[in-house]
Amino acid sequence: MRRAFKLRAYPTRPQERRAVRLLADHCDLYNAALQERREAWRMSNVRISYGDQSAQLKEIRAVDPDGQGRHSFTAQQQTLRRLNVVFAAYFKRVRKAEQGRKQAGIGQKPQQRTVGYPRFKPFQRFDQVLFVAGDGARWEPADGGRWAHATLRAVGRVKANQHRPVVGRVKTLQLKREGRRWYVIVVTENETMPLAPTSRSVGVDVGVARFLTTSDGEMVANPRFLDAAQERIADLQRRMQRARPGSGNRRRLRRALAKEWRKVRNQRRDFHHKTARALVDSCDTIALEDLRVAAMTASASGTAEHPGRNVAAKAGLNRSILDAGWTQFTSILVAKAESAGRRVILVSPAYTSIDCHTCGAKCTRPRQDTVVCPLHGDLDADLNGARNIATRAGLGSGQAFAA
Ligand SMILES: [Zn+2]
Repeated sequence: MRRAFKLRAYPTRPQERRAVRLLADHCDLYNAALQERREAWRMSNVRISYGDQSAQLKEIRAVDPDGQGRHSFTAQQQTLRRLNVVFAAYFKRVRKAEQGRKQAGIGQKPQQRTVGYPRFKPFQRFDQVLFVAGDGARWEPADGGRWAHATLRAVGRVKANQHRPVVGRVKTLQLKREGRRWYVIVVTENETMPLAPTSRSVGVDVGVARFLTTSDGEMVANPRFLDAAQERIADLQRRMQRARPGSGNRRRLRRALAKEWRKVRNQRRDFHHKTARALVDSCDTIALEDLRVAAMTASASGTAEHPGRNVAAKAGLNRSILDAGWTQFTSILVAKAESAGRRVILVSPAYTSIDCHTCGAKCTRPRQDTVVCPLHGDLDADLNGARNIATRAGLGSGQAFAA
């Protein structure tokens, strides 16, 4: 797992001048790369990739030995990568806007959404450069004394106040300017700390009726705090819509609404961490469905934060799916498992909840929480699903081992 430590840095005057120059040179590189992409697109509809631009770096450095040539090659690659991220987000917005226009359909007023092309960064707002540790950058932790040091190519050995211990293996060092202050952001990666084996392996089904069910019969209910929060949010939203636009009251209500959402997100994340922790502590191997929740809920238009106006039943179901937050839970679980040396197996979700776990017959699903096998009768849908997931992942029968 990666962690970031943001520490105040105190460059000397000459170091500061060089740091300002570093930012300026990287800003130039960023803007030149942006211009290249822009012109290639305008003149010949050609898309330029990160790979294309990175390949030109060698040449750029060679012709400008006192400028670009002085800087760390890998740091320059990181700056080009930053631009690449900006473009990836831009293309995503373009696709989304196109989809929106298609969905609006004929006869309806098309949603006018203009998507801004990535802009040049003014020098004042280009405020950080990322170095890869061990390549043009070195970190020396505070050793008994007060100062730690970051040695950065083309800047020098800058002292930093290590107000808390930097743990883990140092991966990158970022030099950042905020107003008149300077910071070094040290990003580290934690070594895995393997937990003792438990000889328990489970399939896990996440569902709507229940948050999760394991193949050996453990059940975790959906957290109920979401219901209460939903009521408060709906109420605040109604009041905000009635408030006069631009009024102080409306502003206050919007702030209250944002706070309410923040609270829900925090509670949900906390719940996911605790639930994942318990599973990782108690299982060697965890199998679960590779759910692309986004695909399942996309049709409801809008997110949990900004629900669309849909058929009530469908919106209700989608709401519960989003509230359960499976994708977040999955990524938390995978991260925890990784750092504990546990195994996570993601299986394809097709039919895991509809086939009978014991005989494989196709079941019917009269209700969300029940499947009916022609041979074995009523089964708990989630438990049946969890056992199918375990089998699919190759974890034997998926049922509890005999004691
Ligand atoms: Zn059956």
